Amino acid sequence: MRLVVIGGVAAGLSAAARARRLDRNLEIVVLEKGPLISYGACGLPYYIEGQVRDLAELVRFTPERFRRERNIEVRTGAEVAAIHHSRREVALAGGERVHYDKLVIATGARADRSSLPEPEAPHVFTLETPDDARRLMEYLGARRPRQAAVVGAGYIGLEIATALRAHGIAVAVFEREADVLGRSDAHLTRTVAALCDEFHIELRLGAEIGNFPADLVVMAAGRRPNTELAAEAGVETGRTGAIRANERMETNLAGVWAAGDCAETTHLVTGRPVWLPLGTTANKTGRVAGANAAGARARFPGVAGTSIVRVCGLGLAFTGLAAAEARREGFDPVAARIEALDRPHYFWGRKTTVELIADRRTRRLLGGTVIGQRGLEGRINVVATALTNRMRVEDFAQLDLAYTPPYAQVWDPLLIAAQQLEKLLD
Ligand SMILES: Cc1cc2nc3c(=O)[nH]c(=O)nc-3n(C[C@H](O)[C@H](O)[C@H](O)COP(=O)(O)OP(=O)(O)OC[C@H]3O[C@@H](n4cnc5c(N)ncnc54)[C@H](O)[C@@H]3O)c2cc1C
Repeated sequence: MRLVVIGGVAAGLSAAARARRLDRNLEIVVLEKGPLISYGACGLPYYIEGQVRDLAELVRFTPERFRRERNIEVRTGAEVAAIHHSRREVALAGGERVHYDKLVIATGARADRSSLPEPEAPHVFTLETPDDARRLMEYLGARRPRQAAVVGAGYIGLEIATALRAHGIAVAVFEREADVLGRSDAHLTRTVAALCDEFHIELRLGAEIGNFPADLVVMAAGRRPNTELAAEAGVETGRTGAIRANERMETNLAGVWAAGDCAETTHLVTGRPVWLPLGTTANKTGRVAGANAAGARARFPGVAGTSIVRVCGLGLAFTGLAAAEARREGFDPVAARIEALDRPHYFWGRKTTVELIADRRTRRLLGGTVIGQRGLEGRINVVATALTNRMRVEDFAQLDLAYTPPYAQVWDPLLIAAQQLEKLLD
């Protein structure tokens, strides 16, 4: 019995590793078209910024290690050109055919370059692989650009803008939408705009790059799921454009699973299909797909949409729905936003902003935002846990959260926000 996995990064390798753990006898082959496997794209902006010294630090496993430690064959430079499901075969770009009994598609996503007049020009970059990062760094060293344009104010665009600013380059960020970070949240947008102002990053909202004179352009205007290969083989895509998979990450084709950035999942607050391509989800859905391909019955319930990013030294985290999104989804959202110190003032407390959103009718929490310099990952994870468990505001307000002066406040900012929200709901 042979499992073939297409794609050798987060989702693909999680699937392969999980399948191996559950079935020692399965033959497992991972086919990766690129030269590397198992790299953390999430660290690439920090390499550009200079916080990660060596790209090699971002690569966790080599194919040899997978073979030696897990008895999994990982082939790089192996691009799958077609899937012939009726014959249970994939065709590689060189013509070779590889038989499978079970197939996991983990082909990921790619940067959308469609909004650029000259996407292939030598001063235009994307930042998706270690190779992209190496080329961009070489360009920075050799050409010393003075004016950069970053297309897209999602988390990748803002991380790149921060990194380029650290090189002393003038940076303009172009965002087609009125809001940043792909979230309809005016306060979040105002916060990022003020930060950009402070750090001399020109943020142009509702604007296209047009003929802006830049000697470096980095494309970060959203990503597209790599579904073409799957779609040509008859795998259905959903309304998000990504591969439709059920909670076992099964596609419509028997014996074929999909995981990671190429697949859609379910939003835990709305219950609807959603495409939120993140490393966290890629690892989990990969694990579920791999388990099921090995004969287990694992399920992936969905995502709350939890996200965290650092922009010019400030942390921005959110989960669930913003108020405007909640309204579009048919809820009657009520939002409370507070500012509080994350520790007592005598322990160098710093300002943290928390916003919580609940549905007026059911009092169920729908989303939250935490902005600050410390501890925001813990706080947003508490909110995400509450959303996953469909908590109501009054129960959330009673959570037993930790306190001692070096770490926290006696009333955590989350609880203060929940109390404020209760008042607005009463
Ligand atoms: C700059 C950047 C920063 C990020 N930061 C964060 C972060 O802070 N937090 C977070 O949660 N996520 C972050 N992400 C997202 C995260 O990296 C992705 O969600 C994750 O890598 C998805 O994993 P994946 O395995 O689904 O897809 P990918 O990592 O895209 O891997 C898919 C692989 O499939 C291969 N492939 C595609 N087609 C074929 C084919 N036909 N044949 C063979 N191989 C094929 C590709 O070459 C690729 O290597 C970031 C992404 C980027 C680009």
